[in-house]
Amino acid sequence: MAVSEKQQQLLRMIPGVDRIIEILGNERDLDTVPKDILTRCVRKVTEQIRKDIFSDGAKVSEKHLGIEQILKKIRTHIQKSMAPRLVPVVNATGVVVHTNLGRSLLPSDALKNLLKINSRYSNLEFDIEKGKRGSRYAIVEDILCEICGADSAIVVNNNAAAVLICLDTLAKGMEVIVSRGELVEIGGSFRIPDVMAKSGAILKEVGTTNRTHPRDYENAISERTVLLLKVHTSNYHIIGFTSEVTLGELVGIGASYGLAVMEDLGSGTFIDFSRFGLAKEPTVQESVSTGADIVTFSGDKLLGGPQAGIIVGKTATIEKIKKNPLNRALRIDKMTLAALESTLRLYRQPENAVELIPTLNMILMPVARIEEKASRLLYSLENLKIPELSAHIMDLTSRAGGGSLPMLKIPSKGIGVSVKTMTVNAVERFMRNHIPPIIGRIEDDLFIMDLRTIQVDEMAIIDSAFKTMLNKE
Ligand SMILES: *Cc1c(COP(=O)(O)O)cnc(C)c1O
Repeated sequence: MAVSEKQQQLLRMIPGVDRIIEILGNERDLDTVPKDILTRCVRKVTEQIRKDIFSDGAKVSEKHLGIEQILKKIRTHIQKSMAPRLVPVVNATGVVVHTNLGRSLLPSDALKNLLKINSRYSNLEFDIEKGKRGSRYAIVEDILCEICGADSAIVVNNNAAAVLICLDTLAKGMEVIVSRGELVEIGGSFRIPDVMAKSGAILKEVGTTNRTHPRDYENAISERTVLLLKVHTSNYHIIGFTSEVTLGELVGIGASYGLAVMEDLGSGTFIDFSRFGLAKEPTVQESVSTGADIVTFSGDKLLGGPQAGIIVGKTATIEKIKKNPLNRALRIDKMTLAALESTLRLYRQPENAVELIPTLNMILMPVARIEEKASRLLYSLENLKIPELSAHIMDLTSRAGGGSLPMLKIPSKGIGVSVKTMTVNAVERFMRNHIPPIIGRIEDDLFIMDLRTIQVDEMAIIDSAFKTMLNKE
């Protein structure tokens, strides 16, 4: 490749790696940066500058290549590579179980137990009474059965794993009947037909998208059929001319033909939301009481605990699942178990659960409380006395999220902000890149923050972000 005079001149302006390291090595702020990382960052940035000179010479000129500018670039790069990747964010979206933002916040009891159990040895797989090897599944089995009325229970890594191991155990190489209206895709990577294929079970679709009848299942039963599967349509709703077969009806058909019946409840809740004036979501207790062999659900959706897949049902079936070698690969870890046990214990007193489990607390938070929070945030934003900033309280609708309560829109309150000197996209981008990031949404040319999911101690963060954005500090 021919190097032009101009390019050569620019290349000569880049200081040598050793020289840069010598300068940065003396900076107090970089004291804690390991030498390797420092060197790697210097190399990376100077290489990039060289590439820029060759790829688009016109864009890089002398004025970009002052020593201070290059050092500044490197310092930014070092800061980025030293900063942790997993960081807390402020959820101002109003979506309570936000899969991209980590789903459920753990109850404080669960956090304490996480620390307590994981900073010491524990009886994870040790039966203290008998003095010999025990099972990690025993830790939450009793309490799960107590809460939902099932005979037996086992927990795995997540609900996708729960569905996979159930199908693998009950239906490998055999036929499973599912309604066409229930072949869901969750978050792009979990699709019932794909999980079915991975488990080696053969999917037999019945009915139509909007209507499936008991006779559709019955007509599809062959000598290879072993399981009837019902899937909760977590993230969509079929409305209009519809008809579905209830879990209870499926259990009836299963009994007449000697087939197992399973439900993937998706979210799974122990609390009947209709008691609080929200839409009816089937509870785990109701599903179990139909007599279904197996019910699966997530630990970190409406349950409000850690990521986990919970399988409850009949003892004979759960025993088979416990013996499946896949279990070892999908097994729950002790951090999750510690958090899950604490979360489940809160359900022994439902008033406690609703108060102390953040997911439930946020979903059921009365609008008046949210408005109070919105007023406080508005007051402190107005107190910044920034003329370019205008903010007002708005009526919003929050969502439960996480593929749960799909049609449920919960009335909420929030703050809509506009800044005279900035586009709304620039405001959104600034807030998103703030440390910690503040994730809101844009609507009607306003940056909108729903107060339902903003924690009280996060208000000051928002305040200070606006101050910084508008250079008022
Ligand atoms: C969310 C969901 C899953 C997947 O659960 P994870 O805990 O995210 O693995 C499976 N099925 C249904 C119906 C769901 O809603």
